[in-house]
Amino acid sequence: MSKSCNRLLIFAGILFVLQACKTTDTGIISYDPPGRTTLTQPLDPHQNHARTIGVSETGVWASNEFVAGRMSDFYRVDGDFYRVTIRPENAPINWSSWYSFKLWSETEQTIQVELAYENGFHRYIPKLSVDGYNWTALDTTEFVHDRDAGTATLTLDVGPEKLFVSAQEHFTSDRVYTWADSIATLPYVEQSVVGQSHLGRDIIKLVVNATGNPDAPMIIVTGRQHPPEVPGALGLETFMNTFTGDEPEAVAFRARYQVVAYPLLNPDGVDGGHWRHNFGGVDLNRDWRDFNQPETRAVADDLLTYKERGVFALYGLDFHSTIHDVFYTMNKDIPTNIPGLTDRWLEGINTILPDYEIREEPFGVASPVAKNWKYHTFNNNGVTYEVGDNTPRELVRDVARASAISLMREVLKLEQAAPGN
Ligand SMILES: [Zn+2]
Repeated sequence: MSKSCNRLLIFAGILFVLQACKTTDTGIISYDPPGRTTLTQPLDPHQNHARTIGVSETGVWASNEFVAGRMSDFYRVDGDFYRVTIRPENAPINWSSWYSFKLWSETEQTIQVELAYENGFHRYIPKLSVDGYNWTALDTTEFVHDRDAGTATLTLDVGPEKLFVSAQEHFTSDRVYTWADSIATLPYVEQSVVGQSHLGRDIIKLVVNATGNPDAPMIIVTGRQHPPEVPGALGLETFMNTFTGDEPEAVAFRARYQVVAYPLLNPDGVDGGHWRHNFGGVDLNRDWRDFNQPETRAVADDLLTYKERGVFALYGLDFHSTIHDVFYTMNKDIPTNIPGLTDRWLEGINTILPDYEIREEPFGVASPVAKNWKYHTFNNNGVTYEVGDNTPRELVRDVARASAISLMREVLKLEQAAPGN
């Protein structure tokens, strides 16, 4: 047991310490909640049965029978008051409490619906949609968030038209695959499959490269390890679209460098309406040391072929969402292959968007997350690019576009300085 773990013994219970400090040859395998590992865990068998439930006395119906749906139970409490219970795929789990269900009624009526969570609390502002494409976030006056109970209660007008109620707008694997197919029609974009998820969905790679050299210096992009983090997915899409677009920076960048992107690491979790984990019941962004999961392993194995060929990594980005926009960067004293690039990149974003307030929180590189594995493998600067849950989607796109342009500008300035390979 390490020195820091021994020190912990003084302060914490023996069980916690034994679990938190359990080590393998590769180091600490569980540092989140006690007992956390990335070995495959069973999913809760009652988490999310696909079903449509009707209340015969009132003619109100609810269903989770669609991609990314999540509703564990639905029943009438009394009068016009109903409850939807929502369970995570398994626990313990960070409370990124995704829910998504359809609601309708045989007659027009106003009902109250309580969102009640097991192993979590209310987090996401409810979004409504009739078609699954156009979404409206509820106004804070249109629902009651009981922070002590961890519930939210919505007042809704329902009728025969089915109404989606969802934690965020839908951004399913199909949307990502369709988008990838569309940009892969460009002559300088190549799509391939690097592996399969637990349930056999493709883990795809997009390479943007007009150099003719598969070993050109690269920017590494990863995304959607965590299913509910839709704003991060939107940011990644815009970021990539900027690299494939017509801006002069993009044209110049593609002629010298490449982007290697894995936009959808957790397709099973996305389509299964998971809160955080993959179908192996694991937080993929804690598996970048032990690689117990097929999705992380596939991406890392593919990137290691670049490492073996001596490809230079210019920057690493991993797209996520949290309560507000924040760039989780690396501590400034950590030596990297391009000193100071992060600072110049962030300043460049502000040059493009002077009113946008950049929030940066640097960290060390010890934890087993994607950003740190890229650093340990390639010695590159990197960021966990967090988009706020409620950041207006137009701003998400503006910042992602500015991030891409600024990064291209800074890399192009390095032309003489950076070693080619
Ligand atoms: Zn995340």
